[in-house]
Amino acid sequence: MRIAIGSFVQESQSFSPIKGSWQHFGPNEIVRGQGMLDEAIGTRTEVAGAIAVASQHDVQLVPLLRARASASSGPILREVYESIRDELLARLREAAAEPLDGVLMVMHGAMSAEGYDDATGDTLQRARQIIGPRTPMVATLDLHANITRQMCAAADGLVGYLTFPHIDLYETGLRGMRLLHAAIFGKAQPVTVMVKLPMIVPAENAQTTHGVIHDLLEASRAHLEESGIYDISIFPMQPWMDVPEAGCSVVVVADEARRARAEAIAAQLAGVWWQRKEEHRVTLAPTDRTIAEALASAHKPWVLADSADAPSSGAPGDSTITLAALLNAQPPADCYTNIVDPQAVARMIECGVGSQVTLALGASSGASLYRPIEVTGKVRLISDGDFVHKGEGFRGVTIHRGRTAVLQSGHVHIVVMERACLQWDPELYRSVGLEPTDAQIVIVKSPAGFRAAYSPFAAAIHVLDAPGVCTPNLTALPYTRIPRPMWPFDPLDDWRAEA
Ligand SMILES: [Zn+2]
Repeated sequence: MRIAIGSFVQESQSFSPIKGSWQHFGPNEIVRGQGMLDEAIGTRTEVAGAIAVASQHDVQLVPLLRARASASSGPILREVYESIRDELLARLREAAAEPLDGVLMVMHGAMSAEGYDDATGDTLQRARQIIGPRTPMVATLDLHANITRQMCAAADGLVGYLTFPHIDLYETGLRGMRLLHAAIFGKAQPVTVMVKLPMIVPAENAQTTHGVIHDLLEASRAHLEESGIYDISIFPMQPWMDVPEAGCSVVVVADEARRARAEAIAAQLAGVWWQRKEEHRVTLAPTDRTIAEALASAHKPWVLADSADAPSSGAPGDSTITLAALLNAQPPADCYTNIVDPQAVARMIECGVGSQVTLALGASSGASLYRPIEVTGKVRLISDGDFVHKGEGFRGVTIHRGRTAVLQSGHVHIVVMERACLQWDPELYRSVGLEPTDAQIVIVKSPAGFRAAYSPFAAAIHVLDAPGVCTPNLTALPYTRIPRPMWPFDPLDDWRAEA
């Protein structure tokens, strides 16, 4: 049996000042052919999960191409998106020249490009045209996907992460492959049913460890015992996509013959979610006051999330707000933070390790939201910046943040990076000699993904009230294209869930 596997992963943030470009899809971010399988060995990624199923079932995986943006950003530039998509599709066409039994597509689901509000659906739709209506195709997605009618129509099944923080990439790969395998052997005739809710929710309170999403997933587990119900995903869409089909959704993959039952399950889960939507509101901690409290505390480390500047959500990672607050507080104990600023990195490398420098730091993307601040300190360390993810989720995956230098100003240690990167893992600091458990304050630029790795040792965790394109304060953002009415912007008391 031959199954083609391809992957195109990027998360788009409509309000980001930075478009997705070739900078985000450098040589490390695009891997072709066999390299895609080789690099997955020993990791906890979807592709590794797919390989595990393939090896059990005598499946020959035909690797196409894996593209994964180094960080989230605004929508991808049209020529970049079309170029990657077309190469992926050309490889699929080539693979389909010999009989192909199925296709697994590892996607994110909140990817847009110039001219393509739903780039995931566009890619899947074109893949469907190549393989024809009868070859099963399953797509795996991030829990923050924005599900569209086009995606549901193009794929036989959509399978999303069931965890946030995301720690089940591998298991999602297993689920996707098993569904595909069942479809290929004719045991399953899957259809994908969706209920779209007229709401978008902040990422900070959409975790799966507790609260409404956790309870919805618990409830859905019971339905998976029913015959002909193959998979259920809950998608609290990442809220910064200003697109016409935006909204949270519930997806049930079921046998064609059980479509009505699948619709009823999806509507029931969506109804419960709707009733409990107020639970998604976020309480933010005032930045200066929280830093003062942390510095006065007998316990450490306090992990403070500047989620408004989270690169995983599409922010540039160059905010100076928390950095300035830390420096102003003149902490008597070590505090760690990080910022994207390629020019400052170049200056520090030029000056060399051990030298005293004064430089302008931050606001490097040219976004109007922040201003650079002048910092004087000592260059403590220079690194190529690469580190390997050790936490669950992306375990084993190398993160490339470009050249990286550590600047120490008093007790504030600033990791200055050429490129924005995922901030879920303490390796961001450990890889440059900073041990988070030794610090009084550790700043992470992430809404919740960091909790999996940081919660076990954090003395306290707070989400700071800071400005940024990824603020959880959604009503402060300039949406113009999402459907209205939409919660939390409009009163919507009479909405009823229907598939
Ligand atoms: Zn996500």
